[in-house]
Amino acid sequence: MKYALVTGGSRGIGKAVCLELAEMGYNVLINYAGNHEAATATKEQVEALGQKAATLQFDVADRNAVRTALESWKENNPEATIEVLVNNAGIRKDNLMMWMKDEEWDQVLDISLGGFYNVTKEIVQDMIKAKKGKIVNIVSLSGLKGLPGQTNYSAAKAAVIGATKALAQEVARRNITVNAVAPGFIKTDMTGDLNEKEFLSHIPMRRFGEVEEVAKVVGFLSSPASSYITGEVISINGGIY
Ligand code: NAP
Repeated sequence: MKYALVTGGSRGIGKAVCLELAEMGYNVLINYAGNHEAATATKEQVEALGQKAATLQFDVADRNAVRTALESWKENNPEATIEVLVNNAGIRKDNLMMWMKDEEWDQVLDISLGGFYNVTKEIVQDMIKAKKGKIVNIVSLSGLKGLPGQTNYSAAKAAVIGATKALAQEVARRNITVNAVAPGFIKTDMTGDLNEKEFLSHIPMRRFGEVEEVAKVVGFLSSPASSYITGEVISINGGIY
Protein backbone atom coordinates (compact mmCIF):
# COMPACT_ATOMS: atom_id res chain seq x y z
CA MET A 1 0.00 0.00 0.00
CA LYS A 2 2.64 2.52 -0.98
CA TYR A 3 1.21 5.95 -1.74
CA ALA A 4 2.46 9.14 -3.33
CA LEU A 5 0.90 12.44 -2.19
CA VAL A 6 0.81 15.14 -4.86
CA THR A 7 -0.37 18.59 -3.80
CA GLY A 8 -2.24 20.40 -6.55
CA GLY A 9 -2.68 17.08 -8.35
CA SER A 10 -5.95 17.97 -10.05
CA ARG A 11 -4.52 19.92 -13.00
CA GLY A 12 -1.40 20.85 -14.96
CA ILE A 13 1.99 19.61 -13.84
CA GLY A 14 0.54 17.98 -10.71
CA LYS A 15 -1.88 15.90 -12.73
CA ALA A 16 0.89 14.69 -15.07
CA VAL A 17 2.95 13.78 -11.99
CA CYS A 18 0.03 11.75 -10.55
CA LEU A 19 -0.19 9.76 -13.79
CA GLU A 20 3.58 9.24 -14.03
CA LEU A 21 3.75 7.98 -10.43
CA ALA A 22 0.76 5.69 -11.05
CA GLU A 23 2.58 4.23 -14.06
CA MET A 24 5.54 3.60 -11.75
CA GLY A 25 3.31 1.56 -9.44
CA TYR A 26 2.32 4.07 -6.76
CA ASN A 27 -1.17 4.56 -5.43
CA VAL A 28 -1.88 8.27 -5.51
CA LEU A 29 -3.34 10.73 -3.03
CA ILE A 30 -4.49 13.71 -5.07
CA ASN A 31 -4.73 17.00 -3.20
CA TYR A 32 -6.57 19.96 -4.73
CA ALA A 33 -7.85 23.37 -3.66
CA GLY A 34 -11.39 23.55 -5.05
CA ASN A 35 -11.70 22.01 -8.51
CA HIS A 36 -13.48 18.82 -7.54
CA GLU A 37 -14.30 17.90 -11.14
CA ALA A 38 -10.65 18.06 -12.25
CA ALA A 39 -9.50 16.13 -9.18
CA THR A 40 -12.08 13.40 -9.87
CA ALA A 41 -10.94 13.18 -13.49
CA THR A 42 -7.31 12.70 -12.34
CA LYS A 43 -8.47 10.04 -9.87
CA GLU A 44 -10.26 8.14 -12.62
CA GLN A 45 -7.19 8.29 -14.87
CA VAL A 46 -4.95 6.96 -12.08
CA GLU A 47 -7.41 4.13 -11.46
CA ALA A 48 -7.45 3.34 -15.18
CA LEU A 49 -3.70 2.72 -14.84
CA GLY A 50 -4.48 0.03 -12.26
CA GLN A 51 -3.59 1.93 -9.08
CA LYS A 52 -5.65 3.10 -6.13
CA ALA A 53 -6.42 6.81 -5.95
CA ALA A 54 -8.07 9.16 -3.49
CA THR A 55 -8.81 12.86 -3.69
CA LEU A 56 -8.14 15.06 -0.67
CA GLN A 57 -9.38 18.64 -0.68
CA PHE A 58 -7.46 21.13 1.45
CA ASP A 59 -5.80 24.50 1.07
CA VAL A 60 -2.07 23.84 1.57
CA ALA A 61 -1.77 27.32 3.10
CA ASP A 62 -4.23 26.45 5.87
CA ARG A 63 -2.14 24.63 8.48
CA ASN A 64 -5.09 23.33 10.48
CA ALA A 65 -6.89 22.09 7.37
CA VAL A 66 -3.73 20.28 6.21
CA ARG A 67 -3.29 18.60 9.59
CA THR A 68 -6.93 17.61 9.94
CA ALA A 69 -7.17 16.19 6.41
CA LEU A 70 -3.90 14.23 6.51
CA GLU A 71 -4.32 12.93 10.04
CA SER A 72 -7.81 11.69 9.34
CA TRP A 73 -6.70 10.08 6.05
CA LYS A 74 -3.87 8.30 7.88
CA GLU A 75 -6.26 7.11 10.61
CA ASN A 76 -8.65 5.70 8.01
CA ASN A 77 -5.83 4.06 6.02
CA PRO A 78 -3.53 2.58 8.67
CA GLU A 79 -1.96 0.14 6.22
CA ALA A 80 -0.92 2.88 3.77
CA THR A 81 2.50 4.55 3.80
CA ILE A 82 3.26 7.77 1.96
CA GLU A 83 6.65 7.09 0.37
CA VAL A 84 6.64 10.01 -2.08
CA LEU A 85 5.61 13.62 -1.45
CA VAL A 86 5.45 16.07 -4.35
CA ASN A 87 4.95 19.66 -3.18
CA ASN A 88 3.47 21.06 -6.36
CA ALA A 89 0.55 23.35 -5.38
CA GLY A 90 1.31 26.93 -6.37
CA ILE A 91 -0.18 30.10 -7.79
CA ARG A 92 1.03 33.24 -9.59
CA LYS A 93 -0.13 36.75 -8.67
CA ASP A 94 2.23 38.85 -10.78
CA ASN A 95 2.66 42.56 -10.21
CA LEU A 96 5.48 45.07 -10.11
CA MET A 97 6.65 45.55 -6.52
CA MET A 98 5.52 49.20 -6.51
CA TRP A 99 1.95 48.12 -7.26
CA MET A 100 1.87 44.84 -5.42
CA LYS A 101 -1.04 44.37 -3.06
CA ASP A 102 -0.40 42.87 0.38
CA GLU A 103 -2.68 39.96 -0.44
CA GLU A 104 -0.75 39.21 -3.66
CA TRP A 105 2.45 38.92 -1.63
CA ASP A 106 0.82 36.94 1.19
CA GLN A 107 -1.13 34.46 -0.93
CA VAL A 108 1.83 33.48 -3.11
CA LEU A 109 4.14 33.05 -0.11
CA ASP A 110 1.49 31.28 1.98
CA ILE A 111 0.72 28.71 -0.73
CA SER A 112 4.19 27.95 -2.12
CA LEU A 113 6.34 28.35 0.98
CA GLY A 114 3.74 27.87 3.73
CA GLY A 115 2.28 24.94 1.81
CA PHE A 116 5.70 23.29 1.59
CA TYR A 117 6.10 23.61 5.38
CA ASN A 118 2.57 22.59 6.34
CA VAL A 119 2.44 19.45 4.21
CA THR A 120 6.06 18.33 4.58
CA LYS A 121 5.91 18.66 8.38
CA GLU A 122 2.98 16.24 8.44
CA ILE A 123 4.64 13.67 6.17
CA VAL A 124 8.36 13.78 6.91
CA GLN A 125 7.97 12.45 10.46
CA ASP A 126 6.44 9.24 9.12
CA MET A 127 9.21 8.98 6.50
CA ILE A 128 11.83 9.37 9.23
CA LYS A 129 10.20 6.56 11.24
CA ALA A 130 10.03 4.36 8.12
CA LYS A 131 13.62 5.31 7.14
CA LYS A 132 12.40 5.73 3.59
CA GLY A 133 11.08 8.60 1.50
CA LYS A 134 11.30 10.81 -1.54
CA ILE A 135 10.33 14.48 -1.45
CA VAL A 136 10.21 16.53 -4.65
CA ASN A 137 9.44 20.25 -4.58
CA ILE A 138 8.23 22.02 -7.71
CA VAL A 139 10.01 25.37 -7.77
CA SER A 140 10.69 27.58 -10.78
CA LEU A 141 13.17 29.29 -13.04
CA SER A 142 11.79 32.43 -11.36
CA GLY A 143 13.19 31.28 -8.02
CA LEU A 144 16.64 30.71 -9.50
CA LYS A 145 17.09 33.82 -11.61
CA GLY A 146 14.38 36.23 -10.35
CA LEU A 147 11.86 37.54 -12.86
CA PRO A 148 10.60 41.13 -12.92
CA GLY A 149 6.93 41.35 -11.98
CA GLN A 150 7.30 38.29 -9.77
CA THR A 151 9.08 39.40 -6.57
CA ASN A 152 6.48 37.46 -4.58
CA TYR A 153 6.74 34.30 -6.72
CA SER A 154 10.55 34.48 -7.08
CA ALA A 155 10.90 34.94 -3.30
CA ALA A 156 8.58 32.01 -2.54
CA LYS A 157 10.31 29.63 -4.95
CA ALA A 158 13.83 30.72 -3.89
CA ALA A 159 12.83 30.08 -0.28
CA VAL A 160 11.65 26.56 -1.14
CA ILE A 161 14.99 25.94 -2.90
CA GLY A 162 16.78 26.90 0.35
CA ALA A 163 14.45 24.67 2.35
CA THR A 164 15.06 21.78 -0.07
CA LYS A 165 18.82 21.98 0.49
CA ALA A 166 18.51 22.32 4.28
CA LEU A 167 16.00 19.49 4.72
CA ALA A 168 17.99 17.23 2.39
CA GLN A 169 20.93 17.43 4.79
CA GLU A 170 18.73 16.89 7.85
CA VAL A 171 17.17 13.65 6.63
CA ALA A 172 19.86 12.15 4.38
CA ARG A 173 20.90 9.61 7.02
CA ARG A 174 17.30 8.37 7.18
CA ASN A 175 17.32 7.28 3.54
CA ILE A 176 15.12 10.21 2.50
CA THR A 177 16.00 12.35 -0.49
CA VAL A 178 14.75 15.91 -0.96
CA ASN A 179 15.10 17.49 -4.38
CA ALA A 180 13.51 20.22 -6.48
CA VAL A 181 12.66 20.69 -10.11
CA ALA A 182 12.62 24.17 -11.61
CA PRO A 183 10.43 24.38 -14.71
CA GLY A 184 10.65 27.30 -17.11
CA PHE A 185 7.56 27.96 -19.22
CA ILE A 186 5.26 24.92 -19.27
CA LYS A 187 1.88 24.75 -21.03
CA THR A 188 -0.74 24.71 -18.25
CA ASP A 189 -3.64 26.85 -17.02
CA MET A 190 -1.07 28.87 -15.05
CA THR A 191 0.62 30.08 -18.24
CA GLY A 192 -2.63 30.25 -20.23
CA ASP A 193 -2.60 34.06 -20.07
CA LEU A 194 0.89 34.29 -21.62
CA ASN A 195 1.32 34.72 -25.35
CA GLU A 196 3.79 31.91 -26.16
CA LYS A 197 5.09 33.70 -29.28
CA GLU A 198 6.24 36.73 -27.24
CA PHE A 199 8.48 34.54 -25.08
CA LEU A 200 9.94 32.22 -27.71
CA SER A 201 12.98 34.37 -28.48
CA HIS A 202 14.08 33.93 -24.81
CA ILE A 203 13.88 30.13 -24.98
CA PRO A 204 16.72 28.39 -26.87
CA MET A 205 14.42 25.47 -27.76
CA ARG A 206 11.85 27.98 -29.07
CA ARG A 207 8.86 26.34 -27.41
CA PHE A 208 7.05 26.01 -24.07
CA GLY A 209 7.49 22.66 -22.31
CA GLU A 210 4.87 19.95 -21.88
CA VAL A 211 3.70 18.78 -18.46
CA GLU A 212 4.95 15.26 -19.19
CA GLU A 213 8.50 16.64 -19.62
CA VAL A 214 8.37 17.81 -16.00
CA ALA A 215 6.58 14.70 -14.72
CA LYS A 216 9.29 12.37 -16.10
CA VAL A 217 11.96 14.14 -14.03
CA VAL A 218 9.76 14.08 -10.93
CA GLY A 219 9.29 10.35 -11.56
CA PHE A 220 13.06 9.87 -11.74
CA LEU A 221 13.58 11.80 -8.49
CA SER A 222 10.87 9.62 -6.88
CA SER A 223 12.47 6.38 -8.03
CA PRO A 224 15.36 4.25 -6.68
CA ALA A 225 17.35 5.33 -9.77
CA SER A 226 18.00 8.67 -8.05
CA SER A 227 19.05 7.17 -4.72
CA TYR A 228 22.32 9.17 -4.41
CA ILE A 229 20.89 12.53 -5.52
CA THR A 230 19.69 14.88 -2.79
CA GLY A 231 19.51 18.64 -2.22
CA GLU A 232 19.59 19.11 -6.00
CA VAL A 233 17.60 21.47 -8.22
CA ILE A 234 17.03 20.26 -11.78
CA SER A 235 16.02 22.87 -14.35
CA ILE A 236 13.52 21.90 -17.06
CA ASN A 237 13.37 24.96 -19.22
CA GLY A 238 14.50 24.37 -22.80
CA GLY A 239 17.93 25.86 -22.23
CA ILE A 240 17.29 29.19 -20.46
CA TYR A 241 20.30 30.25 -18.33
P1 NAP B 1 -2.02 25.04 -12.55
O1 NAP B 1 -2.26 24.38 -13.85
O2 NAP B 1 -2.57 26.40 -12.29
O3 NAP B 1 -2.54 24.04 -11.39
C1 NAP B 1 -2.42 24.44 -10.06
C2 NAP B 1 -2.73 23.27 -9.17
O4 NAP B 1 -2.49 23.66 -7.82
C3 NAP B 1 -4.19 22.86 -9.23
O5 NAP B 1 -4.25 21.47 -9.03
C4 NAP B 1 -4.81 23.60 -8.04
O6 NAP B 1 -5.98 22.96 -7.51
C5 NAP B 1 -3.67 23.51 -7.05
N1 NAP B 1 -3.69 24.55 -6.02
C6 NAP B 1 -3.65 25.90 -6.19
N2 NAP B 1 -3.70 26.51 -4.98
C7 NAP B 1 -3.79 25.53 -4.06
C8 NAP B 1 -3.91 25.51 -2.65
N3 NAP B 1 -3.94 26.66 -1.94
N4 NAP B 1 -4.01 24.32 -2.00
C9 NAP B 1 -4.00 23.16 -2.71
N5 NAP B 1 -3.89 23.11 -4.05
C10 NAP B 1 -3.78 24.28 -4.71
O7 NAP B 1 -0.47 25.17 -12.24
P2 NAP B 1 0.80 24.44 -12.91
O8 NAP B 1 1.28 25.27 -14.01
O9 NAP B 1 0.54 23.01 -13.10
O10 NAP B 1 1.85 24.65 -11.72
C11 NAP B 1 2.17 23.63 -10.79
C12 NAP B 1 3.41 24.04 -10.03
O11 NAP B 1 4.49 24.24 -10.95
C13 NAP B 1 3.27 25.35 -9.26
O12 NAP B 1 3.96 25.26 -8.04
C14 NAP B 1 3.93 26.35 -10.16
O13 NAP B 1 4.41 27.46 -9.45
C15 NAP B 1 5.05 25.53 -10.75
N6 NAP B 1 5.58 26.03 -12.01
C16 NAP B 1 4.79 26.11 -13.11
C17 NAP B 1 5.34 26.60 -14.31
C18 NAP B 1 4.55 26.70 -15.58
O14 NAP B 1 5.08 27.26 -16.56
N7 NAP B 1 3.33 26.20 -15.65
C19 NAP B 1 6.67 27.02 -14.32
C20 NAP B 1 7.43 26.92 -13.17
C21 NAP B 1 6.87 26.41 -12.02
P3 NAP B 1 -7.46 23.25 -8.14
O15 NAP B 1 -7.52 22.48 -9.44
O16 NAP B 1 -8.39 22.70 -7.10
O17 NAP B 1 -7.58 24.71 -8.33
